[in-house]
Parts: sequence; C-alpha cells; structure tokens
Amino acid sequence: NYLPNIDERLEPILSEVLSRNAGEPEFHQAVREVFESIGRVVAKHPAYADDALIERICEPERQIIFRVPWVDDSGKTRVNRGFRVQYNSALGPYKGGIRFHPSVNLSIIKFLGFEQIFKNALTGLPIGGGKGGADFDPRGRSDGEIMRFCQSFMTELYCHIGDKTDVPAGDIGVGGREIGYMFGQYKRLANRFEAGVLTGKGMLYGGSRARTEATGYGNTYFVQSMLGTKGESFDGKKVVVSGSGNVAIYTMEKILSFGGRIMACSDSGGYIVDEQGIDLDLVKEIKLLRRGRISEYARLKGTGAHYIEGSGIWDVPCDVAMPSATQNELTGRDALALVKNGVIAVGEGANMPSTPEAVRVFQEAGVLFAPGKAANAGGVATSALEMQQNASRDSWTFERTEERLAEIMRNIHDTCAATADEYGAPGDYVLGANIAGFVRVAEAMKAQGVI
Ligand code: GLU
Repeated sequence: NYLPNIDERLEPILSEVLSRNAGEPEFHQAVREVFESIGRVVAKHPAYADDALIERICEPERQIIFRVPWVDDSGKTRVNRGFRVQYNSALGPYKGGIRFHPSVNLSIIKFLGFEQIFKNALTGLPIGGGKGGADFDPRGRSDGEIMRFCQSFMTELYCHIGDKTDVPAGDIGVGGREIGYMFGQYKRLANRFEAGVLTGKGMLYGGSRARTEATGYGNTYFVQSMLGTKGESFDGKKVVVSGSGNVAIYTMEKILSFGGRIMACSDSGGYIVDEQGIDLDLVKEIKLLRRGRISEYARLKGTGAHYIEGSGIWDVPCDVAMPSATQNELTGRDALALVKNGVIAVGEGANMPSTPEAVRVFQEAGVLFAPGKAANAGGVATSALEMQQNASRDSWTFERTEERLAEIMRNIHDTCAATADEYGAPGDYVLGANIAGFVRVAEAMKAQGVI
C-alpha cells in the first residue's frame, strides 16, 4: 500500500478512500493525482485535514444507478445500466456531461465526476460537479434506436434533475441529437419547458451559440496562453490532435485559425497522417455529416494522406500534442516518443487522457503541460453561459459568447499559473489546477457547515 508523493497527513485519508472504493482504478487514479497536489495546501492550512473535509469531498453526495430498457429495431428488448453521480453541490447545482460508451461503469463515472468538481470550480461560475452515462454502445445504432434509448434513459433520470438541482450535458457518445431527444422526453414527463435542465441544446430550443465549439476552442486558448509564457505561439507549429469528435474537430479549427498545422487526427480504429496538413472540411464531412470512420479520409483525399490502424498517433512528430479522445489514451511510452520528437506543449482536451507515467515524463522533460480539468473547462463553462441565457430568456451572439469563453480560459490559465507560483512550483499547471479548484470547493463547504 505504498503511496508515493503523498503528504503524511493525507496518507491515512487516501488509504481509507481507496479501500472504500475498491476495484475502481480510474477513480483511484483521479483521486491520487489530486492528493499528490493538495499536500502543499494541507501543510499550509492544516485545518483542511479536519472535519473530514477531504473525505467528504471524495464521497459523492448521491449516486443513482438505474435500469435502461429499450427495444431495438429487430424488436428485441435490451437492457443497459444508467448512472448519475451527483458529486458536489457546494458551488452550484451539479453540472457535468452524460457519456454513452460500452466502457462506462461506476469507476469511470466517478473519476469523471470527481474531476468535474474541480474543473467547474476553476471556471469561477456557480456550478457544482456531477457526471452520468450508460454502458450503451451507440455505434451502428439507427436514429430510432438512439431516440428510444435516450427516452428510456430520461424516463428514469428526469426525477433527479432540474435547473436548480442537476444539469446534465453531453460527453462521449452524447451530442446535440441525443440532448434533443432527452430534452423532448424531459419536457413530456415534467410538462414544463424548463430550458435550463440540460445544456448543449439546439439553437431553436434554448441552446447557446459556441457551445459546440467551446471545449476545443477553450483548450486551444489555454495552450496559447501557456505558450505565451515562453514567448511562443501556435503560429507555424506542427500539432497532433487525437480523436475526431466534437472536441478534436473544434480544437483543429481554432489551431488552424492561429496559424498552426494539423499533422494527424484519429478515431478508435486508427489515425490519419496528411503531409499537406489535415483537411478539416473533409474530416467534418466524414465525422459530423456522415458519422463515418476516419479511415475513409485517406481514400477520399487521395494524395499525401495515409491511414494507419491502431493507437500509434503519438509517434507522429509534432511541436504540440492535444489529446482529445478519451482517458489514458497517452501512455508513458507515448510521452517518451513525443519528448524525443521535440514536443514543447501538451493540452488535454479529453478528461485524464495522459496516464500518470506520461504526466511525469512531460513534467520531468520541462514540457508545458495543461491538465484536462483546466484546459478542457471551456465546454462546461459555456454550458454555464447557456444556463445564464436560459435563466434570463436571452440568446447571445456567437461573438459575445466566444469573448466570454476566451476571458474565462485566460482567467483559468492565470489562476493555475499564480497558484503554482504561490505554492512553490512555478509552471506546474497540474498542481495549480488541483489546488485552486480544491480550495474553492473546500472553502464553500466549510462555510456551509457539515454537509
Ligand atoms: N462533458 C463535458 C466535460 O467533460 C461538458 C460537461 C457540461 O457541459 O456540463 O466537461
């Protein structure tokens, strides 16, 4: 039970949290990382180790696990497992996405919910942390099957959510289409047009402009600020972006507008490399319009592009890496390859895409490293802006919304950097993000008594 890099005051607390949540490796990974950072806070403010404050932050306020029955196109009845972990409401209503993916289990939803608490705190907006999902595989399912699944999922979830209680949004496997189906079902069950109950909605029924783009744009802004601390920018840089979903696509779009060159992107089957730079319009057509596979890119593009099966995208040389697919997609070995090829910055668009070994490799090599809970907070921040627009029955322009997003990302960057300085670890954005997020939640909880 060796606990490296953990302050001795925190050791018994961490041991207790890990053993109480046995068999949840992703959750353990996320908790350990935060504990490695907050030792310095506890050393400065021993009161944080009192009143079981840290144990309380690690324990979700409420966890809901439910059956999701649905009928497929052949008439066969199927059943999946649904989750909603309402983690922490010290700063506002629970807020966080819903993930539909066959890998979903309680460990994954808890790791995501735990990260979400601190991410949401970093935005400075009044949102608590939560996450949900189902072990449903949307791949190859018809539109009708997706709709029936979303309706069944919401039939159970609806009594647990509300614009002042818990406000879900999308994540992997859940985009505008799924949010639309869930919103429609919520509205029928509740008999209320309660726009602020879900975010990521379509523009015709309470959605926010720039929400779709926000996670990718936000990560790019964050990395641009980080590069700026070294007198660098995206201009002329070679960038590899893993994934080709919503986050990856709008990361590529913003990087291109900043003068960067996209060398490669991927999906769960493999990756494409294009010597002429990735043609983003073609990626959008394949992934957004046709819901196809990235392997089609090489065939459609013709010259200059090739497709390679498997997970080797991090062997493609680049100056900046933007992992934007899923958790633990970038290993210690991948990080060594990136460092050997001269990477100078990494921005996590996905949640926890780098393994702990990879983070260590980057930090030891002096690579600028932006952890997901800070760098990808633009998505949820813009969800909070959608909630603001819904509450005031307003709809902002794209420019106004993006301007707010850019400002929020600059603030998150500066807060992480200043916190790292304050705690004696300049340039350590992992430490800065964990401490700054943790202190906000801890202070709000202390003020609200034993909750
Ligand atoms: N799923 C996104 C995240 O990981 C967005 C959540 C939201 O908008 O509520 O932060």
